[in-house]
Amino acid sequence: MIATYRHLGITDECVTCEACGKPNLRSTVVLGILDTDGNVEGTVYYGSSCAARALGARSSRDVLARARAAHRKTVAAADLARDFFTRYDLPEDGTITTKELIKAACKIAPDNRHVCVDYDSSIETTMDLIALHRRALADANLISGESR
Ligand SMILES: [Zn+2]
Repeated sequence: MIATYRHLGITDECVTCEACGKPNLRSTVVLGILDTDGNVEGTVYYGSSCAARALGARSSRDVLARARAAHRKTVAAADLARDFFTRYDLPEDGTITTKELIKAACKIAPDNRHVCVDYDSSIETTMDLIALHRRALADANLISGESR
């Protein structure tokens, strides 16, 4: 089976290529292994040449450019996610109480009038947003310790 990967970013916390075992790299490319639904279900840390091979990319330079762009996106998404949890008074992880959920939905609904047309859709949208932003934070955790 061929694994599907998504660029998450670059890290200098892991400097050994997990594909070939080459140590003391300047940094590694963080690739998310995707399940059939496109969710990240694991990560690998590859040197850029091994990452290029795994992704079927033209060159390691190409991979690095894409990894850097992905890195900025991952960091930006996590910033947005933290704003979301602060703004709507929701916990970044763990259980969300019904009360918290409803309170957040009441604030989210006016901001999303195009989808929050009734109570159920407001709750659903809120839960979708929570899942989306929690995924963004989880992605960012995989490349943490990083400011590139
Ligand atoms: Zn390697």
